Amino acid sequence: MKVTMLGCGPSQGVPVIGDRWGNCDASNPKNRRSRPSIVVEDGNTKILVDMSPDIRDQLLSNKISKIDAILFTHLHYDHVAGLGELRTLSFLAKRRLEVFGTASVLKGLERGAGYLFHSQKSDDKNLYKPSAEAREIRYGAGFNAQGVQVLPFCQDHGVCESAGFRFGKFAYSTDVVVLNETAFAALEGIEVWIVDCLRDDPHPTHAHFERTLQWIDRVKPKRAILTHMNFEVDYAKMLARCPKGVEPGYDGMILDID
Ligand SMILES: [Zn+2]
Repeated sequence: MKVTMLGCGPSQGVPVIGDRWGNCDASNPKNRRSRPSIVVEDGNTKILVDMSPDIRDQLLSNKISKIDAILFTHLHYDHVAGLGELRTLSFLAKRRLEVFGTASVLKGLERGAGYLFHSQKSDDKNLYKPSAEAREIRYGAGFNAQGVQVLPFCQDHGVCESAGFRFGKFAYSTDVVVLNETAFAALEGIEVWIVDCLRDDPHPTHAHFERTLQWIDRVKPKRAILTHMNFEVDYAKMLARCPKGVEPGYDGMILDID
């Protein structure tokens, strides 16, 4: 299994509009962070998790043209604003793409872009064919996405829930401030974990460095990669502070998982 980190930035990205780099060294390309999305590749199947507002550039720069299914963690802008690119991905796949999310996430997606899911009234039946098929998921109930087995689990994101996803020995936990016992049970035995770490100071909706390290200490993956880092987190300085087996992510990072 191979995972490509398309984006590891916060909702505003790094730099923030206005060329604001915060504590980040602007000369280090690993500090240029787009909004969070990943691709999980298993055999010939590529699963996209979230469609960030940067998704077009992310797929172009990582030379990924074929996506087989899409999972959504939650409805916040930095995770769904690239939804319109579903049309392009559907054209490339030559079929409607399965879109997996909880009932409330699917409802929100369909409200925002119903034309992607349902046929439009038109004299020409070839116009605006739907690009997506909604697939409802439930926390704790494993599902099959184009042959790839996925376990979704519930995460507390402060203002709403987000879905964590486990794929075999790999798990993705973005946008989470509290992990409950059910989530820890779902994470048991993973070897590679991409996990939320917004900054050093506590935050109402995201894990901060100290909390993220406590979780990693409990879950004990062989390798943990920090994501959703804002402009207070300089790549090199954070890497120097991380214990063994923990490192900040960067856009374009590739993880090979046995
Ligand atoms: Zn986010």
